[in-house]
Amino acid sequence: MKAYSMTDNTISSAVIIGAGIFGVSTGVQLARRGIQVTIFNDGSPANGASGRSLSWLNSARMRSEPYHRLRMAGIDRYRTLAAKHPDASWLRFDGGLTWDADNDRNEIDAAYRHELSLAYDALRLSPEKVAGLTPGVDARAITPQGAIFNPGEGWVDLPALIGMLLEEFAALGGVLVTDEGKARVVIESGRAVGAETEKGHFRKADAVVLATGPAVPRMAAESGQVIGDGTPIALLVQTKPLAHPLRAVLNTPRVAIRPAPGGTFSLDADWAADEGVTVREDGSYEIDDSVVAELLAEATKVMEGSPHLEVASVGVGGKPIPGDGEPVIGAFKAIPGYYVAFSHSGATLGLIVGELLACEVATGIEHPMLATFRPERFA
Ligand SMILES: Cc1cc2nc3c(=O)[nH]c(=O)nc-3n(C[C@H](O)[C@H](O)[C@H](O)COP(=O)(O)OP(=O)(O)OC[C@H]3O[C@@H](n4cnc5c(N)ncnc54)[C@H](O)[C@@H]3O)c2cc1C
Repeated sequence: MKAYSMTDNTISSAVIIGAGIFGVSTGVQLARRGIQVTIFNDGSPANGASGRSLSWLNSARMRSEPYHRLRMAGIDRYRTLAAKHPDASWLRFDGGLTWDADNDRNEIDAAYRHELSLAYDALRLSPEKVAGLTPGVDARAITPQGAIFNPGEGWVDLPALIGMLLEEFAALGGVLVTDEGKARVVIESGRAVGAETEKGHFRKADAVVLATGPAVPRMAAESGQVIGDGTPIALLVQTKPLAHPLRAVLNTPRVAIRPAPGGTFSLDADWAADEGVTVREDGSYEIDDSVVAELLAEATKVMEGSPHLEVASVGVGGKPIPGDGEPVIGAFKAIPGYYVAFSHSGATLGLIVGELLACEVATGIEHPMLATFRPERFA
């Protein structure tokens, strides 16, 4: 590939719609390059998927090789950040523990072999071996096929990370606008020329980045750009603080659990979102408290000592997932100056996507690691 350095910028200004992890990470990278950046968000930063994410940093199980490589680069950037902040309560690499249900869909053996073939750090454990490697798990809940422990995995608290990145963004002269409602991309003569808020604030720019999480496919469609959309409604329950030794991220058949700053835990499960959330006619959400209680009970079963868990908050909304499951990153070729970032696993990818997308936006040079993730594959 052509080399691009911090001095190869071909633009001097950019506007980003969305202050989730993708928008903010891209914004700070562009600002580091000396580009004048404005971010428009319809409320406080991290008020979308990034504010209610399990945020497990991983490349576990099976996926395309380019996607695996991108995720590994994503984890690499977090390791660098963790080395700079060794005592951070918002970024930990305490490993991940996974097991499957005891039925004919149990894939632990296949997943373990696949991970070994990639040299992805993985240990296959029988239930009784778990306690020796990672604390806080009730081994009785682990199915007979056993578990995989991935010592290199971790988690991040995205609101904390976004807050830190925004401090740097502001210090570099970046502008964040949060009180002007929804923004839209402005296209003139077939080219993206800036963005405008609901209140009529227009910011002209050489490049526009669409990073509005679950809203990306609908907003892209407004200018005729097709992005396959598989976004489901997701639910994240935050517990009240409690003293408990669990440190790893747990992915179990009925609940995923990750530790969070302040001794709390984040809980997530697809079935709980499917059964417990109804979308009302006006688009707001109704949450079934009995399903939330069931999710807490599932968490209690897999945590050592069956702790009493209490709900502190429940986050509901779209979990951005492209139609084919792979990230959507880069330029809309049909509309010069218009870029997009839309993906699942945006926590794992947050830092690397910001870095690579900012390079592309600033220099116009395509990065080979994004070659299979272009939006035009849906056209
Ligand atoms: C329950 C759950 C569990 C997850 N688990 C994991 C995991 O374990 N590991 C992992 O890596 N990833 C995980 N993810 C995915 C990850 O959290 C997301 O991919 C990531 O947060 C997406 O970031 P984003 O910046 O694209 O979107 P968002 O965080 O949604 O940010 C978009 C922002 O744009 C704003 N916005 C929208 N429309 C407009 C508009 N018109 N004008 C102005 N602003 C607008 C929104 O308010 C929002 O603040 C999970 C997500 C969820 C919901």
